[in-house]
Amino acid sequence: MAKPPVPHELKPQASTEDRGSNVPTHLFRQAVEQAALAISITDARANILYANAAFQRITGYGQQEVIGHNESILSYHVTPKLVYESLWAQIQRQRPWNGLLVNKRKDGNRYLADVAITPVVGEEGLTTHYLGMHRDVTEVHRLERQVQNQMQLIESVVDAAQVAIVLLDEQKSVLLDNQEYKKLIGALGKEPALIILAALHEQMGDAFTKALEKHRNIAPHEICIETTNRPARWFSCAASWFEEHDVGADTFYEPIHRHYLLLTIQEISELKHQQEALRINSLSALLAEQERIQSLRETLAGAVYQLEGPLNMLSSAANMLGRRLSIQPASASHDTSGELPAKALEDAIQKSREALDTLRACIPDQSTESFQEIDLNKVITDVLKLTTPSLLGSNIVVEWLPSAKPATVSG
Ligand code: FAD
Repeated sequence: MAKPPVPHELKPQASTEDRGSNVPTHLFRQAVEQAALAISITDARANILYANAAFQRITGYGQQEVIGHNESILSYHVTPKLVYESLWAQIQRQRPWNGLLVNKRKDGNRYLADVAITPVVGEEGLTTHYLGMHRDVTEVHRLERQVQNQMQLIESVVDAAQVAIVLLDEQKSVLLDNQEYKKLIGALGKEPALIILAALHEQMGDAFTKALEKHRNIAPHEICIETTNRPARWFSCAASWFEEHDVGADTFYEPIHRHYLLLTIQEISELKHQQEALRINSLSALLAEQERIQSLRETLAGAVYQLEGPLNMLSSAANMLGRRLSIQPASASHDTSGELPAKALEDAIQKSREALDTLRACIPDQSTESFQEIDLNKVITDVLKLTTPSLLGSNIVVEWLPSAKPATVSG
């Protein structure tokens, strides 16, 4: 497509000398007059000779109210003297100055001005005028400060947290961390985040790789880190992602998103030790109870067995007596002297059998345990902890290196 013709009067100039010579003077004036920036032209002592419409809009002063007055009319008198001294030192060396000044509007309200002052040098090489341009940056400054304040607030909250927090980029480089995380550096090594991520990977397997690929959050996982010559340490670790829009100028119209991984690491070694001690205590109490019940069972069963012998003998004797009484000759039919002891014996045997049944009923049952998922690693660890003193007493050393993955069985 052909480009539209450039009007002759706006065509770019070939050399610096005649730059702008084709632009009519009134165009310069109109451009300055209509510019969005507050523009003023002063003499060499900063007395205002000209102010454009934006200057009037921003300061509230009409043109005639400022002409002849020094630019200091705008000063709120809180900008440090040093700033003005450096401003003047710079422009008197015929160099442009740019900086922030606290200005006052006609209505007395202050605003923060981003001011640029350029010396206008005459043909004789002397500064004849100054060109001042400024804009109200109060709101920009307020937002910048607000962001800085929020940053500081977030940093102090993160720093004060009792949990180690670390922010990683997608290459797993640390961008931000807090005091608790720094403590882990001393304890675990150079980059604890990498050690923790590796442990999470080992425990979660493919789910971890997918979570990283798809930027999915990782719910808290308990992981154990073994360190040489020190007891193992337990951590509860969770990860969450957040997305940032790139702030570079090149991505202004084509936004790029970056992902950051926020890792929170809470040491739970103390809790784990307490849980372990509790588990071992209840395990040894359970074993002791089982042993007590077993010995009670054996004692009662033995007693029942022991009593059954004499009772059986008595039963046989009673049977024999019964039989003898039933076959007595007719002449002795009126002799009832043997019936009473036989009856008493039978009653005694009956009572004894009832007592024996009661005793038998008191023998505790062999309890059947319910089936559930059991982590063999934990069971073996607990058993080793319980039996280590007796194993060592017998000169038996057991080397136990369980894998990080739980080895569960139903039992
Ligand atoms: P003063 O006590 O008069 O000056 C403070 C210090 O500034 C002095 O100690 C001295 O070191 C230096 N100084 C002041 N005047 C001169 C001078 N003529 N020559 C050499 N050194 C000098 N000021 C604002 O507050 N807001 C503005 O928006 C602003 N815009 C300006 C635009 C232009 C184009 C120029 C040239 C100056 C502008 N100034 C502006 C500066 C202004 O002219 C005053 O210097 C400033 O306001 C301080 O004045 P003061 O009366 O408060 O303090």
